[in-house]
Amino acid sequence: MARIAVVGGGILGATLTLRLAQQGHDVQLLERGAALGGLADRTQLAGYDIDRFYHVIVPSDARMHALVDELGLTDEMSNAPVGVGFFSGGKMYPFNGIGDFLKFPPLKFTDRLRLARFVVACQLRSQYADLEDKPLLEWLRKMSGKRVVDKIWRPLLDSRFDGHHEELPATYLWSRTRRMRSARSGKGGAEEFGALRGGHQRLIEAAAKAAEESGAIVRTGVPVTGLLMEGGNVAGVTTEDGDERYDLVIPTLQPPALKFLLPAELQPLLGAYPQRFLGVVCLILLVKESLTEHYSVNIVDPTPITTIVETSHVVGTDHTGGNRLVYVPRYCDPKSETFGLTDQEVYDRFTEMVAKLSPAFRHEDVLGWTVQRAPTVEPVHAKGVAPREAPIFPSYEDGRPIRGLALASASQIYPRLLNGESVVQLAEEVAVEVDGILATDPARLVATPSPAGGAA
Ligand SMILES: Cc1cc2nc3c(=O)[nH]c(=O)nc-3n(C[C@H](O)[C@H](O)[C@H](O)COP(=O)(O)OP(=O)(O)OC[C@H]3O[C@@H](n4cnc5c(N)ncnc54)[C@H](O)[C@@H]3O)c2cc1C
Repeated sequence: MARIAVVGGGILGATLTLRLAQQGHDVQLLERGAALGGLADRTQLAGYDIDRFYHVIVPSDARMHALVDELGLTDEMSNAPVGVGFFSGGKMYPFNGIGDFLKFPPLKFTDRLRLARFVVACQLRSQYADLEDKPLLEWLRKMSGKRVVDKIWRPLLDSRFDGHHEELPATYLWSRTRRMRSARSGKGGAEEFGALRGGHQRLIEAAAKAAEESGAIVRTGVPVTGLLMEGGNVAGVTTEDGDERYDLVIPTLQPPALKFLLPAELQPLLGAYPQRFLGVVCLILLVKESLTEHYSVNIVDPTPITTIVETSHVVGTDHTGGNRLVYVPRYCDPKSETFGLTDQEVYDRFTEMVAKLSPAFRHEDVLGWTVQRAPTVEPVHAKGVAPREAPIFPSYEDGRPIRGLALASASQIYPRLLNGESVVQLAEEVAVEVDGILATDPARLVATPSPAGGAA
């Protein structure tokens, strides 16, 4: 049994803590916030308790569904077939599968055929090695033609990547197209989305509770300020209350947060991660009536927002007094002009676009609104960078292992997209690897086992 600290109480840290505790390890989860949840935490809007960002589970999210079942939350899931819209030339079109692509008025018939053929080809392709070095736009032009790129792909990528996507490999869109296929229910090509009452945070809290029942200690309001180093290895963490000794520390933070924990000698580890990260600015509207019949909308007209997501189509309206929740996000660089806007500026700019998308939108029907921001949401994996995944068990440049440290963050997930499913998968894989090494070759991971009780 090893004494382990998991840093960060998002879905990754909570699942990892649960699995390590179930394996019999002496685990502490250290979360700096007042509550667990991270990006999946909750906020208040007009007196209602709501998801700070929008979270759904698709039918093929096997690990998420298994975790929901294991934690006794199966009856708390709501599922609904939902549609996606496409806004082009000031008009909204349904966009749910090949049938809609083939009728899609903004494109000529030959372009529609090429688009449909491209989507099918992506979904049938199971390997991506030869896509890794292909520039995304070049590949899209070859596969679906210049007009489709100019009318569809480039505008979508512009709003998703804040205007800069030249570094992306073809793998990105292949991976995204495949995930969307896994959401299809087969009924008219519509997607079937599920959501947990209380959001992903409910799952995180249930995982933490189950971890405590297996002996873990879960602590909130504990920012970790650094790693405790001894002889080039990690011997614990530093918090505002002092040093704490652990055999193994596993930060689950993405590099922009991890860098504040690493002493100078470990800063080179950051070079193995992607170097660019997107944040998000998200306006949330509480409105009386539905703004769009679609769950989400792809926008190819000039837009200050990335999409519009009416989550009430999936989560229902019981928890919001019969009113509807509409999320209006813009993915952007945390140093961008958008990220620095005031709440009122975000409201004004984003609702101007919402009014174009939805003739039903009226300012006087907005019962409440809030702006949520997160500076680090998603790494941008650039083409031609190897290895793709920073190592879980790091070493110095000369090959010496750094004992006492394992790294497990969403930035190490590739080529899968970031979501609860891929994050839970990483957490479970890391728990299995850590447990295996501790059982067979503990000296590889642990420098000097701490005395029982552990606190410095
Ligand atoms: C707009 C949006 C929409 C999304 N939609 C979906 C969806 O529909 N479905 C889906 O499955 N996923 C979705 N996701 C993705 C999902 O939210 C993330 O993949 C997931 O929450 C990441 O969890 P994590 O534990 O890796 O990181 P985080 O949630 O970022 O957790 C990291 C934790 O570490 C803590 N921390 C940071 N520094 C310290 C420190 N020094 N000491 C202690 N603690 C620290 C933070 O407070 C935080 O709690 C969405 C995300 C966004 C932003």
